[in-house]
Amino acid sequence: MSVVSDVIVPARAPYSAILKQGQVMKIIDLESQQAVDALFYNAQDSSERYSAQDTLAAQAAAGEKFYLENGSVLLSNEGEKMVRIIADTCGFHDSCAGACSCESNTVRFGHETRFMHACRENFLIELAKYGLGKRDLVSNVNFFMNVPIRPNGELTVDDGVSEPGGYVELLAEMDVLVLISNCPQVNNPCNGFKPTPIRIVITQS
Ligand SMILES: [Zn+2]
Repeated sequence: MSVVSDVIVPARAPYSAILKQGQVMKIIDLESQQAVDALFYNAQDSSERYSAQDTLAAQAAAGEKFYLENGSVLLSNEGEKMVRIIADTCGFHDSCAGACSCESNTVRFGHETRFMHACRENFLIELAKYGLGKRDLVSNVNFFMNVPIRPNGELTVDDGVSEPGGYVELLAEMDVLVLISNCPQVNNPCNGFKPTPIRIVITQS
């Protein structure tokens, strides 16, 4: 196994990489409780992209969990396998609560948060490097983000449960463009109110 790249993504920063079919991306939550927002596109045809709806519907049909975990397969809007989770120390990852944006921050936390940096901006910065933009944003995965469902059906963003050094490993089932926002949110507990760096290692067998 050889290391293709090994980088530290600073707190609040964006990241992207093309993951070749068969390569593995390991995302490490270095200090714990850090939400890592992620989007996936077919590297050859960006009109094929991650579909949270198809992924969660397939899991429901198979009697699996509402969350992503070891063994989960992330599907595209064309029903193709994009990425498979092959190792996971956390146990569940959200794909329902979406990414933070300046606009949603004002609704959720007040207008004074309008100028705080947000995941949507991180995604747009990285998308621009590939000729993509706002209309290419779709529902994302939130690795390490704790979004429990209350008995009354309510969704909440709760304290993160990932430990320092916790990780998830993603096997590319096709060539995928992976976009990551190391979430800058400080108005809810998704990052323990303190965004921290993550490490991303790509390996090739
Ligand atoms: Zn965020």
